[in-house]
Formats: sequence, C-alpha cells, structure tokens
Amino acid sequence: MTSKKSRKKPSPKKPPREKTVVKRGSRPASAVRIIRTIDNMRALVREVRLRKRSIALVPTMGFLHEGHLSLIREARRRAKLVVVSIFVNPTQFLPGEDLDRYPRDLPGDRRKVAAAGGDVIFMPEAAEMYPEGFQTFVDVTHVTRDLCGAARPGHFRGVATVVTKLFNIVQPDVALFGEKDYQQLQCVRRLAQDLNLPVQIVGLPTVRETDGLAMSSRNVYLSPEERGQALAISRGLQKARRLFSAGERDSSELTAAVLDILRNQSGLEVEYVTVCHPETLERLPAIDREAVILVAARVGKTRLIDNARLKGTGRR
Ligand code: AMP
Repeated sequence: MTSKKSRKKPSPKKPPREKTVVKRGSRPASAVRIIRTIDNMRALVREVRLRKRSIALVPTMGFLHEGHLSLIREARRRAKLVVVSIFVNPTQFLPGEDLDRYPRDLPGDRRKVAAAGGDVIFMPEAAEMYPEGFQTFVDVTHVTRDLCGAARPGHFRGVATVVTKLFNIVQPDVALFGEKDYQQLQCVRRLAQDLNLPVQIVGLPTVRETDGLAMSSRNVYLSPEERGQALAISRGLQKARRLFSAGERDSSELTAAVLDILRNQSGLEVEYVTVCHPETLERLPAIDREAVILVAARVGKTRLIDNARLKGTGRR
C-alpha cells in the first residue's frame, strides 16, 4: 500500500522558491543600522545578549579605508553582531591638532561597512560621551609613556578612556585593532588585562597601499608631492627588516639605517625611530628574540606613524 502523503506531487503552478543569495559585497548601505545614542546601543546589546549571540567591536574614527575594512571582515568571522564605532574622540586630540578638520564621510563609510559585513555603526555625539561634569579618565601608565605618548601628552589617556567607555557600552566579546597604531594596541591590551575586562583583544597587520605607504585616514591631507616623500618611511622600515633578516641585532645599527633614509628625504622631519620590546615597548639596545621598530615623522603638516615587527629566523 502506498500512502497518498508520500506520493504527493509538487504543484506544477508553484515553481520551487529560489533562495535569495545576498553576496556580502553587494549588501546595500541601508543593511547597516546607524545607532546614535548610548541608550539605543544598550537596548540592542541587551537583545543580542538575551539571544546569547556574540558581539565584535571595531572602534574607528571613520573615513574608512581598507585597513579598517580588514578589521571588520575579521570581526564578521568572529562574532554574530559586528559593531563599528565611528567617533572622533575629542579627548585624544591635543589643542592645535586636527580635531575640527578630521575627514568625515558617513554615506561612504556606511557603504563600506555594509560591503565588509558589518551590522551596526555606533556614532554617539561627543556631548553624550562626555557630558557636563565628566571627570573620570583611564590612565595606562607605562606602555604609553614614550614614543607617541611623549610627543602627544594626554593622547593615550583619551584613547584608553574612550575605549573603556565603548567596551562598557557595546560589551563586545572581541574587539579588533590595527598594528598600524602599535602603541595604541599595546595600551588597549594592557588596559583590558589590568581592568579584567571580559573582552578578547585582536591585533591585525597593517594594510598598505601597493607602493608601501601604510593606509591612514590622514593620508588625505598629503599633497601628491608629500605622498611621495612619505614613502621614505615604509622604505626605511623595509630596510630595517632586511638587515634584521640578514642577522643584524644591534638596535643602533637598525635605527641608523632607517634614519639615513629618512634624513635624506626632503620634506620629511623625523620625530622618532626606536627599537622596542613588542609588548612592553621598553627600548631594546639589542634584539634577543623579537622586537618592533617604530617611526613617527612629519611630512608637511601631517604627522605619520608606522612600524615593522622584527621577528623570525634571521641569521645571527
Ligand atoms: P582610526 O580610525 O585611525 O582611529 O583607526 C581605527 C582602527 O583601524 C585602529 O585600530 C587602527 O589601528 C586601525 N587601522 C588604521 N589604519 C590601519 C591600517 N593601515 N591597517 C590596519 N589597521 C589600521
């Protein structure tokens, strides 16, 4: 005996429904929700947490480029909800820096976040993040003392404070940062560890233009001539890498080689070239195992930073 049920033919009038395949690259900008208030962000976080879904946070100041997008793509792989914050944080700018003219492009950023697989842009107003009477700051003391910390006093206090606030608001399981801002990454790692914040900090490699220039929102300030001059920075770092691979372990030799390239570049003013321990950022006179070489320089009015990890099996 055959059951009628199992023999039921599909209705000829109804063709099988096609699955809509949404390619990540083709997601419309409107797929990304924009949240402007802390209350609304918290409401979404509560909802997502109730459903036991994981959250990734990519903190940025906007005007997104491939470096940011590499963080968003990795965030997509690691969590169910990907939040990209766009906040030009006033407390990390010194008087006279580029806070007021920092480049902005929300429509472009929204399209890029959508294409990279982000779900939400969180962009609070400065007045909501720092209301009247605000007086609590987070200070990461040691790792922020030298390098950019010396050149931009108060900068990392602003960074550590806003990152802590963003962590408290978004409650991410994982937060992603670029090695491009190497000292910032170590500062955030330290603060998450020291304050027992339940968030995994992931650092990703610097994304570069094809000619080697580290991508940065601030590159837009460079004239074509300055952009050419800025290439000396990545050239210098490449030279340091080559010397390290050839067995050079004396930091003064490595910095001298980089300085030689930078000082021979017209239009470029060196701020520092330093070889440091990759986690503590203490200066290393000689490299035992691995290190990072960090550079800051001014090209015209634009301050640029870059770095290279020195590790691996170079001859000794
Ligand atoms: P910003 O918008 O400059 O504050 O940067 C936001 C995040 O993107 C930080 O974690 C940066 O380190 C990271 N980032 C910026 N430029 C790059 C780059 N060229 N490659 C990788 N990450 C980057």
